[in-house]
Amino acid sequence: MVAAAALAYFMNRYGIAFDRGMLGNVLETDAAEVGELLSPGLLVWVLGLGVLPAVVLSRMPLTPRGLLGALVDKAATLTALLGVSALLLTGFFASYASLFRNHRDLRSQLVPINLLAAAHGYARARINAPREFVLAAADAARLSGVEQAGRPLVLVLVVGETTRAASLSLNGYGRPTTPMLAARPDLINFGTAEACGTATATSLPCMFMDVGRAAYADGLAYRRESLLDALQRAGLDVWWIDNNSGCKGVCDRVQVVDAASLASDAGCGVEGCFDEVLLDRLDQRLAAVERDTVIVLHMKGQHGPAYYRRYPPTFERFAPVCSTNALDRCDPASVVNAYDNALVYTDHVLDWAITSLSANSNRADTALMFVSDHGESLGESGIFLHGMPYDFAPPYQKEVPFMAWLPEATLGRLGLDRGCLMQRTASLSHDNLYHSVLGISGVRATVYRAQADVFAACRVATQPATSVDSRKEKT
Ligand SMILES: [Zn+2]
Repeated sequence: MVAAAALAYFMNRYGIAFDRGMLGNVLETDAAEVGELLSPGLLVWVLGLGVLPAVVLSRMPLTPRGLLGALVDKAATLTALLGVSALLLTGFFASYASLFRNHRDLRSQLVPINLLAAAHGYARARINAPREFVLAAADAARLSGVEQAGRPLVLVLVVGETTRAASLSLNGYGRPTTPMLAARPDLINFGTAEACGTATATSLPCMFMDVGRAAYADGLAYRRESLLDALQRAGLDVWWIDNNSGCKGVCDRVQVVDAASLASDAGCGVEGCFDEVLLDRLDQRLAAVERDTVIVLHMKGQHGPAYYRRYPPTFERFAPVCSTNALDRCDPASVVNAYDNALVYTDHVLDWAITSLSANSNRADTALMFVSDHGESLGESGIFLHGMPYDFAPPYQKEVPFMAWLPEATLGRLGLDRGCLMQRTASLSHDNLYHSVLGISGVRATVYRAQADVFAACRVATQPATSVDSRKEKT
């Protein structure tokens, strides 16, 4: 009753559905995320609809009866209930059947059936999961000619959090949410990509796996090597710098830096750090770079519902902002304002990262890629946040930005044609990330698929890297 009351509160407040994936989010969250979801309203619901009825029920006197008496009693009750149900169904069976067939999402909206079904599904998936660890790219190796003595190649992969494609002015949104990136001539915006999941617990590990969305299963990143393992095996120096809730298994064997670990940083408080803390760590890494390196920056981005806590006050471009986690109580425009301000801040952080990379252009060839883990609902159709079952989730939760910043020197070294990349229009998804990062890093393995590498089709034929590549494709 207590769990159901808490669940009903969140479903009512944010319009969420509850399934196995959402239970995974609940079990894999951290204290900071939980803190942002607590409210007096939650306490009232849990006390009033959970604790109070539970206390009343526990005080009901139970009259001991013999086994036979109890069985007769229960049989009578069941018969009565089934009788009434049958009566109701005979009139409306066709309607009920089609309702449940056409609205499978209802199953994730009925409390507490959704909670019980989610617990069952989650436990079954965990128990049935294979135990052996799979080496996905055991033969990962660099292409010849990609490494250059004394001049490291540095790729920064920024993983956004809750950044929905539709809210970027780069993608046609009506407000200037990405002014700094838009002013970068070296930026290649691939547009909208389809996320692997609607919540971090699924999409973050999935986007780093070679198997793609169709074959991804919960917890796979703990049983199979990720993109980062492939890069490391090929000889790259691989770092994961985190300002979020961890990497869900994909960075378990590479070097990890908790960006918030130095609490003395400006921009860090009890609720965590602004994403700028990633830039300090990035600068430290760049200063120490000696060989080809891939650095992942895991942002806090637009993580809700407290969007107003994701940016310093100077980034409040749009006002008024919703400054509570009770998003449904706020004026819808103020929710969007807070989200958009957080996006303006992300634009600033990405621009700053690019500036840091540019500052190292005298001694390294650098590149940056940005892709978000999933999108967000901002009250459209009464739905907030993310994590809806994939098949019913609105596009806002599934469509994420996908872009790359590539200066001329890096394009030349990798043999890539900017005009070709700018004109790419093929639809993308998280399935492209694994192969694209291998591609741009000059790493090949049997699992690498050139068709899924966004850069592959724009490689200039005369580049030595390409000739090795095409030989490998044929064999
Ligand atoms: Zn996320």
